[in-house]
Amino acid sequence: MLILTKPEELRKICADWHKQNKTIALVPTMGFYHSGHEALMRHGRKIADKLVVSLFVNPAQFGPGEDLAAYPRNLDRDRAIAQNCGADILFAPDAAAMYSADHATWVECPNLSETLCGIKRPGHFRGVCTVVLKLFLLTGADIAVFGQKDWQQQAIIKKMADDLNVPVKIESLPAVREKDGLAMSSRNIYLDKAEREQAAAVRKGLLMADSMVKAGETDASVLQNAVLEFWSKEMPLGRVDYLSIVDAENLKELNIIKGSALMACAVYIGKARLIDNILLNA
Ligand code: AMP
Repeated sequence: MLILTKPEELRKICADWHKQNKTIALVPTMGFYHSGHEALMRHGRKIADKLVVSLFVNPAQFGPGEDLAAYPRNLDRDRAIAQNCGADILFAPDAAAMYSADHATWVECPNLSETLCGIKRPGHFRGVCTVVLKLFLLTGADIAVFGQKDWQQQAIIKKMADDLNVPVKIESLPAVREKDGLAMSSRNIYLDKAEREQAAAVRKGLLMADSMVKAGETDASVLQNAVLEFWSKEMPLGRVDYLSIVDAENLKELNIIKGSALMACAVYIGKARLIDNILLNA
C-alpha cells in the first residue's frame, strides 16, 4: 500500500491506472478507524480493481467551537487497518496540501443542506462537498463508498455528483453497530463509562419509533414525543440537538408518514455529538 500526502502524486497514479483500464473505488474518511470504516473499505476492495482510501480531517467541515483540534487521530493504527482491508493507496494529506492559503472556491448543495445537521452545523456540508469533489477530481474514482449513518451526507454527495455530471457511482452501506446498537463512530471515544452506557438509548429510541410505525402510528409528532420521553428517562446525560422525521429523498420535514420516511437525530452526550437514523416504513 502506498501512502501519499501530495494531491498531484495521487492524481498521477490514478490517471496511470485509468490508462491501464483499471477501475478505482474511493473511500473518503477522517480516520481513527472502526469496523464501519472497515466495512466500507472491504466493499471498495471488492467492487473495483484499485482501492483508494483518503484520510483527511477536513478543517472546512468543522465550525468554530467544534472538535477539529480534539478529533481523534492515530495514523499508525489506521495505516495498518487500511492495508489489511486491501487499500492500494492511503491518501493522507495535511490541510495545506488540500487548501492553498488563498483557496476561494466552494461547492454547495443548498436544498438538502438546509435541514437536519445542515441547520445545526452551518457550512459543514459546504466543507464536505468541496473536499469530496476535490477527491473525485484527483482520483477520477469510478465508485465512491459512503456510510448511511451519515444519511444526509450521502444524499448530498449523490446530488452533487449528479448536478455536476461527475462520472462516479455513489454507493452507501448500512451503519455498523456495537452489540448494544450504538452506531460506531470515531467520536464514541469521547464517551466515559456512564455516557457510553446511556448512549445505547439513542438507537433504542429510534427502534421504538420503528415499532410504533409498524403498529400503525403515522403522526410524526406522536413518534417524536415518544422518543424524546424515552430518552429523557433512559439517557439523562443526553441533550437532544434535533430529532426529525423527513422524506428520505428530499429530506423535507414530514408531519404524517406515508410510505417511507427517515427519522434522524443528533444527540450530545458529554463531549460527543452522536448522530443516527432509521428508515420508517408505514
Ligand atoms: P468519517 O471518518 O467519520 O468521516 O466517516 C467516513 C465514512 O465512514 C463516511 O462515509 C461515514 O458515513 C462512514 N461511517 C462512519 N461510521 C460508520 C458506521 N458506523 N458504519 C458504516 N459506515 C460508517
